Amino acid sequence: MTRPLLPSRVLKTAKVKITTKCNRSCDFCIFADGAQGENMSLELFARILERLGTVPFRQLHINGGEPTVHRDFAALSRLAAIRLPDRVMVLGTNAITLARNQRLLDVTREVYDQILIGCDDEHGNYDEVAQVVPLLRQAGKTVVINSVLEAISSSHLDQVAALCDRTGAIHVTNHVHHIDVGQPENRLGGLCARYLDQHLMVEIDGSCYRCFNAMAKEDSEFTVWDDDFATKVFSPRTQHYQFCLKCHEYADSGHQMVPASAGGA
Ligand code: SF4
Repeated sequence: MTRPLLPSRVLKTAKVKITTKCNRSCDFCIFADGAQGENMSLELFARILERLGTVPFRQLHINGGEPTVHRDFAALSRLAAIRLPDRVMVLGTNAITLARNQRLLDVTREVYDQILIGCDDEHGNYDEVAQVVPLLRQAGKTVVINSVLEAISSSHLDQVAALCDRTGAIHVTNHVHHIDVGQPENRLGGLCARYLDQHLMVEIDGSCYRCFNAMAKEDSEFTVWDDDFATKVFSPRTQHYQFCLKCHEYADSGHQMVPASAGGA
């Protein structure tokens, strides 16, 4: 009997960090460098899009830092939509610039399908979020507001929940991750399978991580410039990231290699 062909592997999200600049300095964030950060050039971004075009994935997620503070945010966004027209376009933002700059809000409504907004006391953006979310929802955009529970008061939590009820935005919460807050180390029995075929994060220098949580700059697995980049995206993972030891989202696959020996994962 002929075995049915397995569906080919498709990555859920390719996430490109176009800047490490940000207009906030959240304590829990390891990805941004405030005003000291740097922007990815338009030319480099175009080359990264070319490399990503060789990999099957569903969503292109533009992130930072705060991507809307990139001086070429509009041009980068439109270029991505033109070069990868069949991908769902996702923007990760704190919405502060969008509330203050009509042109950037217009570009966002023109290009992006989904807008993911971090909103809590650390981001300090309740007013801006309240202003921008109804406009994005009126334009038919999917809006997801993410609050870190350790960084939001119960009254603000209620306020954000009410905004989502009124507008049809989605409110999700999570616990602080990305940082060591004194929690015990994970036992790391096997490689983490949580992000299998989920996220490819591309850093500003083209280095890649197959997990959104992985600590940047220290343990990149490969780069978009590698000749066999497209193969490496789906190759078995054989090592923990350094940050897996303290990651709140560690999910033990029980295997020393994923996905090759992860049977049915
Ligand atoms: S443990 Fe955390 S950092 Fe490591 S792969 Fe899993 S989700 Fe990513």
